[in-house]
Amino acid sequence: MMNKGSHSFDVVVMGAGVAGTTAAWLFASRGFRTALVEARRLGQAGARWVNGMPMRVFDEVGLERPSGEELLDTGVDTHMFDHSDRRIFTSRNNPMCNVDMSLLVDRLHELAKRAKVEVFDSVRLDGVEFEGERPRQVRLRLPHKGAVTLRGQLFVDATGMLGELRRRVPALQRDCPSLRTGEVCTAAQMVLEIKDKAGARDQLAQWGVEAGETVNWLGVEAGYSTRMISFDSNLDHAHIVTGNVLSPGGKNGLAMAREVQERYRFFGSVVRSGEGLIPIRRPYERLGVPGAVLLGDAACMVYSAHGSGVGTGMLAARALVESVAEGEDLGSLESVWAYEHRFHQGLGAMLGSVAVATQMFRQLSSSQVDMMVRHGIFGVSTFESGLSLKTPLPTPDLAFGLARLSAAAPALGARVALGGSMVAPVAGAYRLHPRAVSPRRWRLWARMVRGLMGGSA
Ligand SMILES: Cc1cc2nc3c(=O)[nH]c(=O)nc-3n(C[C@H](O)[C@H](O)[C@H](O)COP(=O)(O)OP(=O)(O)OC[C@H]3O[C@@H](n4cnc5c(N)ncnc54)[C@H](O)[C@@H]3O)c2cc1C
Repeated sequence: MMNKGSHSFDVVVMGAGVAGTTAAWLFASRGFRTALVEARRLGQAGARWVNGMPMRVFDEVGLERPSGEELLDTGVDTHMFDHSDRRIFTSRNNPMCNVDMSLLVDRLHELAKRAKVEVFDSVRLDGVEFEGERPRQVRLRLPHKGAVTLRGQLFVDATGMLGELRRRVPALQRDCPSLRTGEVCTAAQMVLEIKDKAGARDQLAQWGVEAGETVNWLGVEAGYSTRMISFDSNLDHAHIVTGNVLSPGGKNGLAMAREVQERYRFFGSVVRSGEGLIPIRRPYERLGVPGAVLLGDAACMVYSAHGSGVGTGMLAARALVESVAEGEDLGSLESVWAYEHRFHQGLGAMLGSVAVATQMFRQLSSSQVDMMVRHGIFGVSTFESGLSLKTPLPTPDLAFGLARLSAAAPALGARVALGGSMVAPVAGAYRLHPRAVSPRRWRLWARMVRGLMGGSA
């Protein structure tokens, strides 16, 4: 539905991906007049590929669990291999389900519309108008040259990594720098036909893997890179996921996926694919200023160790709605502060501490990561806790692996130990985010977090 002219809402959510649509649906379900603004056609919004996420996220957000075609599989056994294709361990309690994101996002759009969210799609953001520093309305260009102005108490930037609103609101821009190349992962995803089942069976036998299982390699390109191949149980299709940190001259996720497709001759044509960029820095310290908040990839709310932002974006959407809904003015300083505080106490502490580990991986070479894998730095429990979107706590297999690695390669062992020793202090620092509004205490807190993370804003 799209009308020209000027409209007034309680909340204007920019970006109809998974995070923005979850927020719009939850706001409208509480009776707030909500607009959802999308640059693409609604049916093209957000992630359109297959994503893994823990099933518990649906329960925590209050959204029915996926089923039917939306749910591709759940709890797939996953084998971690080193670079010589030697199996290091097998995870048999994988907490992830794989979801067809286009169907999940479409379902959220339907729920939002039923909750009376007003959708403005295929629009261009022409400008933001302010009262003082507070954004009060956005000007949108409609597909057939018309224009519309949306006024709101609160504007939610859920436009993805580029943060279209974040870059236009000076009070946000000041504390939320644009991402640098090393803070971005280029990822790709492909579903392929298996044209030669016998060939695929031979390869699986060689690996010692069953149909219906997943094979995973870490550090195949740079230190922060991954390659994963999942086979369905009938060997009709396989699903490839690749990712690599963005770097000058580095291979991107799509090139890596194509390499896999070419290397194994049993793969046939591509059924579907997707690619894109994922922010892998810690979430911004600043998540809200009067009138505007950041959500999802726009706030770098990603479990950076494996580039997962769907579950965290949905959980943050719930935190946002619950934090601001009680205030008289959804966009007041107190309301947006409550959101920021709640986020950093929980998800922020977890994502910040994961970012310490990610930061370390970014600096390692491919062979160093292989060495870590071979010496058991990632045991099953570390792997499964990461997939559950949990803080990477020290586990017995991590300690044992570190001892083995340190004996074989003392300098690398010391580096890993140093990175690991920062996890708990960073999580602790996030939890010290000031509860009461205090710009002075916020600056001290942000300085402490930045200091622990290496100093950058
Ligand atoms: C290949 C690949 C594989 C991935 N695999 C996983 C995975 O397995 N598990 C996982 O959890 N995560 C995964 N991710 C990351 C995940 O897809 C993202 O973290 C998640 O989709 C972010 O959701 P979002 O709603 O914040 O942003 P987006 O999905 O980017 O949605 C933002 C929306 O805002 C719209 N928009 C942009 N500019 C404007 C504007 N000016 N006005 C209005 N609208 C605008 C965009 O068109 C888009 O629809 C993967 C990413 C990639 C690229």
